[in-house]
Amino acid sequence: MVQKVLNTFLNGVWPEKKDMIFKRGMMGIIWLCIGWSVLLSSASYAESKDLPSSKLEKVTLQLKWLHQFQFAGYYAAQKEGYYQAEGLDVDIRQRDLHENNIQQVLDHKAQYGVSDSILLLYQAKKAPVVIVAPIFQHSPQVLFTLASSGLDSPYKLKNKKIALYQKDTDGFSVLAMLHEVGVFPTIERTIKSDTGMLVQNQVDAYSGYLTNEAYLFRENNIPISVINPINYGVDLYGDMLFTSQKEVSEHPERVEKMRRASLKGWQYAMKHKAEMARYIQSHYGVNKSFKHLMYEANAIEDAMSLSTTPIGTLDEGRLQFIANLFQRHGLINNKVNLKDGIYRSSQKTIEFTPEEKKWMNQHPVINLAIDRSYAPVEFVDEEGRFSGIAKDLFQVIQHKTGIQFKPATDLSWPEAVEKMKQKKLDVFSAVIETEARKEYVNFTVPYFKFPMAIATRENAPYIADSKQLKGKVICVVKDYASHAKLKRFYPDLSLLLVDNPKQGIEAVANGKAYGYVDNVAVIGHHIKNSGLANVKISGEMPFRADIAIAIRDDWPELHSIIQKVLQQISSETYADISNRWLQVSYQKQYNWQQMTIVLAPILLLLGVFAFFNRKLRQTQIKLQETNKQLSILSVTDHLTGVYNRQYLDQRLDSEVERVNRYGSTFSVIMMDLDNFKKVNDQFGHLVGDEVLVVFAQTVEKEIRKIDIFGRWGGEEFILICPETPLAHAIQLAKKVRKSIEDQEYPEKITQTVSLGVAEYQTDEVINDCLNRADQNLYKAKQLGRNQVCPAMKVE
Ligand code: GH3
Ligand code: MG
Ligand code: MG
Repeated sequence: MVQKVLNTFLNGVWPEKKDMIFKRGMMGIIWLCIGWSVLLSSASYAESKDLPSSKLEKVTLQLKWLHQFQFAGYYAAQKEGYYQAEGLDVDIRQRDLHENNIQQVLDHKAQYGVSDSILLLYQAKKAPVVIVAPIFQHSPQVLFTLASSGLDSPYKLKNKKIALYQKDTDGFSVLAMLHEVGVFPTIERTIKSDTGMLVQNQVDAYSGYLTNEAYLFRENNIPISVINPINYGVDLYGDMLFTSQKEVSEHPERVEKMRRASLKGWQYAMKHKAEMARYIQSHYGVNKSFKHLMYEANAIEDAMSLSTTPIGTLDEGRLQFIANLFQRHGLINNKVNLKDGIYRSSQKTIEFTPEEKKWMNQHPVINLAIDRSYAPVEFVDEEGRFSGIAKDLFQVIQHKTGIQFKPATDLSWPEAVEKMKQKKLDVFSAVIETEARKEYVNFTVPYFKFPMAIATRENAPYIADSKQLKGKVICVVKDYASHAKLKRFYPDLSLLLVDNPKQGIEAVANGKAYGYVDNVAVIGHHIKNSGLANVKISGEMPFRADIAIAIRDDWPELHSIIQKVLQQISSETYADISNRWLQVSYQKQYNWQQMTIVLAPILLLLGVFAFFNRKLRQTQIKLQETNKQLSILSVTDHLTGVYNRQYLDQRLDSEVERVNRYGSTFSVIMMDLDNFKKVNDQFGHLVGDEVLVVFAQTVEKEIRKIDIFGRWGGEEFILICPETPLAHAIQLAKKVRKSIEDQEYPEKITQTVSLGVAEYQTDEVINDCLNRADQNLYKAKQLGRNQVCPAMKVE
């Protein structure tokens, strides 16, 4: 897969500049390939050597409820062999409803467990439980009311009756919300786990979970209102992986392995929801319908805040806030000791000197000088929050050291620089090393490496040599490293200084400057977000944009502390962070010409990481998997697992180039599911999704190895058939039509498809060919659907 992606970079995406890429990128790519092949060969060796199960360490994971999608990540870690790869044999046990699942871990009947914020109550009572990783950033517990009752806020529940669990702790979110708003309804403690109590008006409000009961109401067509504690200031962590103090002190590495594999399992599960739903049905005998499990999966995705928070993120400040909330509501009297209650992966491995430890105790809060507008490296988002690669990295550092970092979010970059010089701020979170800055700060090793690039108007030529810039107006942000480097290396350029990258890109777009120089990721991000179609990246500068942390020079202790932490962070964590921020631009970007230049360095970076990392031997398999995931993720459609639109666009381009150069041919088959709206209307969107998955799998079975099949959008798919003249493509389309008609779908739906075929004509633009296929598809629909058009070769 990786090679596939790389080849396509070189062949199809950038035909006219291929030679240039070859010259400039050859060295990097050679390194990359060497790195990869070392990884691939060692990984396959390790895989083929499958550890015998007797060599695996046996541990038990005690779930907090019966088997259901709520635990999909753990099942995925099992199914995908992540636990096994860490040397673990994990017995995943569902809840015995007569047992206290937390107590089972405390009694060492299980080494690991899943529970929620209630763990803090145990910690307050000095029970030795240790939080390993939060999985659900928010608790999905809410109150449901009938929509017809008009009871849509907790304030309206005065003198009403609500159904709640027997124990306060089980319904804590709801109780705390009522407490917060000062409303005290009557509480009915005999809650039944069905929705009848509410429907039959035995109670006015009913506690339950967005992941579960919400589905039952919906299925039974009962219109409801949801009163969510989050909206009233009660925002608890939901499910968390936890263990005992004993396990942490006796087997710290095992805790780390369990954490790593479980988080990876969760990542997998959320990327393959449909697959996991089916797996849970078949392997755990869960008798919820596929639809119900998918509903649960989507609600869980919300509870995990997947789009904004990396899985497993633990914010100690939030945990403390929750502990205080418990205290305020009289649930706990003692202070919760978070210091020992949270598993810190650094505990054993980072060795701080006594001076460093003392220094950290004396400096609990460090002020960060940040750049408000250096996205995606770092920036302040619309809600005024510090965000980006640097933010995620500092979260890791905070977690490993316990130091709080406070970003100065309201300063411009020159103001932040000035305050650093005056030692009113302490640390630059993301800067490039320059001679001038070395006068007042100490740099760490760089944590992310990017090339510096130049952006110009669309019509400018490729900039192979910076000498081409002579006499041109070049724009840079004042006081950025690019500014210093240009002044030093190109004293005769005429520089136009701007305040931030956005202004720089705009100056290029409206012709005030010829080019804008900055870090390639920052330029890529701004081009994408500016919507300015006439700006492109047109070359690399001969100096780099390696991002480091810099610490005020009178604090050598902090420099050595951060340096130690940076070296201890795993290459996977670095890859995860970059993946989060750079993947976004990759997935949304349709202009491959721009994206290649952003993505190539990223892949390169990963390769270099892999090759030079000192811990290579231990981490190579994991890294290889990360890379594999990264590349698979970036070319496949999330729902169906077939190729995505970006990849198809790119393959079409390379087919065109190949055909025009070598005079062969290719055809395309456009497909659109028939009357698919009806499926959604009649059976709901989730069943619709499942039909799409089955459809894609069925087509994949029919096609040849050389064909490229992917999702064009919505319920439209395309099949690219290399080396295939029209007549053959029509035959293939007919075969696909029949297998779709014969296939069984969920809910006994009969699904058919209409197909439009076209053969590429030498030297035409690809859109002409796609339009012909589209028109044929339209004709097939007109003629009554469930057919191929043209039905035989006439073109
Ligand atoms: P026709 O035979 O003319 O194609 O009829 P149609 O009902 O399929 O009409 P059309 O192509 O206009 O409608 C496509 C529908 O597909 C509309 C949209 O709601 C649904 N759809 C698109 N993407 C998805 C998806 O990812 N999941 C689900 N469940 N439905 C989708
Ligand atoms: Mg359609
Ligand atoms: Mg359709």
